[in-house]
Amino acid sequence: MFDSLSEGLQSAFKSLSGKGKLTEGNMRDGLKIVEQSLLESDVSYSVVKEFMAHVSEKALGKRVLLSLRPHEELVRIVHEELIETLGPVDPSLHLKADRPTVLMLCGLQGSGKTTTCGKLTQMLREQQIEPLLVAADLQRPAAIEQLKIIGEQLGVPVHTETDHQDPVKVCQNGVDRARRDGNRVVILDTAGRLAIDEELMAQLKRIDKKVGPDQVYLVVDGMTGQDAVNSAGAFNDALELDGVVMTKLDGDARGGALLSVKQVTGVPIKFIGTGERFDALEPFRPEGMAGRILQ
Ligand code: GDP
Repeated sequence: MFDSLSEGLQSAFKSLSGKGKLTEGNMRDGLKIVEQSLLESDVSYSVVKEFMAHVSEKALGKRVLLSLRPHEELVRIVHEELIETLGPVDPSLHLKADRPTVLMLCGLQGSGKTTTCGKLTQMLREQQIEPLLVAADLQRPAAIEQLKIIGEQLGVPVHTETDHQDPVKVCQNGVDRARRDGNRVVILDTAGRLAIDEELMAQLKRIDKKVGPDQVYLVVDGMTGQDAVNSAGAFNDALELDGVVMTKLDGDARGGALLSVKQVTGVPIKFIGTGERFDALEPFRPEGMAGRILQ
């Protein structure tokens, strides 16, 4: 079990075990080490506090003090708690059998939303499903162009309307088109801004209400640490989210933002993005991520 911890954490735990019997006193030292590691991983402070309260409750119970290898037991508890908090696992897109399934992707500009549209498309193509992509960011012509290019690269249709000013209408027309053309999935690439603003949220809420997507996914940049938590909170307040896709976890971010975003939204982490290419999307696995967060 020590294998998944970094050398620093390992030696700290070993020095604790060198002190002989584990007591409530030195157990607290062990818990401090874990807490520090989570904070260094960019897990937000309030989430760390809540998480550590659960761990302490379990660790200070009789189970650890009476176990033969208490330090290993402590690490096991932390791991278990992390996996429980990061779960449950649900990589399914919950496709409907009798009509097009509408997936709405939202997130801040630059979070990787449009790239994720391409990645989901590639995943669906591998299952012989051809989605229709809908360019619903009408304010940014570059975003429409980017989605068109992705459609061409992956050989799937892209619904665009340059004369329409209303993204709700464009999304509705896209869904109608998918129904007519027999696409089993529609992916709505909605507008993003560099920061949360009321107009953006109002627009997304209108799409959510009037188009009624089957699944609403928030795309979050995993490199942004604490900011990811704030934006996730705002999107979660405005929309009924069904899942989160966290991108850019191919960098050296330790992924602590995953824990915070999961805690804030309460919805499953569906996928993680691990690169710019369309094949760099993985179903989320809490086990691997728990080790990375707790380095
Ligand atoms: P959008 O504004 O939310 O639609 O963001 P884009 O999809 O345009 O992505 C912004 C930038 O992030 C682009 O340069 C993408 O290539 C890059 N990007 C997206 N996902 C990932 C990822 O998982 N890993 C890395 N390294 N880069 C990514």
